[in-house]
Amino acid sequence: MKMRITVLKGDGIGPEIVEQALKVLRTVCEAGSISLELDYQLLGGAAIDKTGIPLPEETVKSCQSSDAVLLGAVGGPRWDMLTSDIRPEKGLLGIRAELGLFANLRPARIFPALQESSPLKPRIIERGVDLLVVRELTGGIYFGRHGRESAEGELSGFDEMRYSEHEIERIARVAFDSASRRRKRVTCVDKANVLESSLLFRQTVARVAASEYPDIDLQNMYVDNAAMQLVQNPAKFDVIVTGNLFGDILSDEAAMLTGSIGMLPSASLRSSGFGLYEPVHGSAPDIAGKGIANPLATILSVALMLRHTFGLAAYAGAIEEAVERSLQVLRTPDLMPPEEHSLAGYIGEAFGARKTIERASTAQVGDYVAQTLRSALAG
Ligand code: NAD
Repeated sequence: MKMRITVLKGDGIGPEIVEQALKVLRTVCEAGSISLELDYQLLGGAAIDKTGIPLPEETVKSCQSSDAVLLGAVGGPRWDMLTSDIRPEKGLLGIRAELGLFANLRPARIFPALQESSPLKPRIIERGVDLLVVRELTGGIYFGRHGRESAEGELSGFDEMRYSEHEIERIARVAFDSASRRRKRVTCVDKANVLESSLLFRQTVARVAASEYPDIDLQNMYVDNAAMQLVQNPAKFDVIVTGNLFGDILSDEAAMLTGSIGMLPSASLRSSGFGLYEPVHGSAPDIAGKGIANPLATILSVALMLRHTFGLAAYAGAIEEAVERSLQVLRTPDLMPPEEHSLAGYIGEAFGARKTIERASTAQVGDYVAQTLRSALAG
């Protein structure tokens, strides 16, 4: 087997965290005798500094000819004074559009060792939080007609929310395929009681389920109820499929349940299995170069890549297991209780046992996860 991956380290902490994720990816490739071809390209501020634009043509070409893209993060105060058409973020939106990535997957899972970081009460978390938000990314209200009109001296603004059947069918298939590899339950979230585009969304998802995925348990839920259920009873969700606007809001809400931005991976996919994998967080310029950034979201993005682009679910699971093991032993400062940031370690509750958890650097966490994974795959 061969993997061709375009690597976009980006800005700020991007290079530091991507380096750790590559240690983990190389470990998998060594264990599985997989040939790994990496092509490093520029995106965002790093690309502006070298070429004057945030998304060079060479970067697009490399991504288009690879199996998957691994991205760190882009942006930072150095480029804030630039006009919006050449800002780093423009490169990020541009690459997603160029690659036709219509599905955004954000898993939200509470690792047992981090239960104390969640804002939810223990009695809710104890039932388990392990869900996946599948958000439509290139349609809906963000891409409809926008405008302003003036009538009788008063301005009004409008935004059109439109979904066509083919857009709904393809996002539904991503959700059902994901659920097939999980607990086989999909919740379609919409506002079908008042929005016509939502009603079509719901009906089309149901049609795809009935004709192609008879073994998936499909439920419908209005978005206001879903927002409530996510905090009241998150254990009831496996996969949530929804449109662009509702997905934007619900995926952030779901992310917060886990309590830590440094832990959240994401995948942006198109039908072929090709995907762009990146942490949910930004380039964290305030801590860049200090060696303290949490690399776990980027490492977990590699797990998503193995699962969704390469169909290597067992290796993905092994990475997630190694991450859980690392959390019981060492952590970057963002995962330590605030009063302990400056100390070498603290006594934490992990798996109900009291253990000393060491404060570690970005590279130490990367090394530990890679070593733990290497031992697990060898054993
Ligand atoms: P941010 O996510 O970069 O940082 C928010 C806070 O979380 C900061 O205090 C930061 O130190 C901390 N943090 C983030 N990731 C961390 C990690 N891995 N380990 C430890 N701490 C971490 O968001 P921001 O400060 O609003 O944005 C900074 C820059 O990143 C901006 O230029 C923004 O446009 C850009 N950004 C990029 C992306 C992306 O590339 N996908 C996403 C969001 C923001």
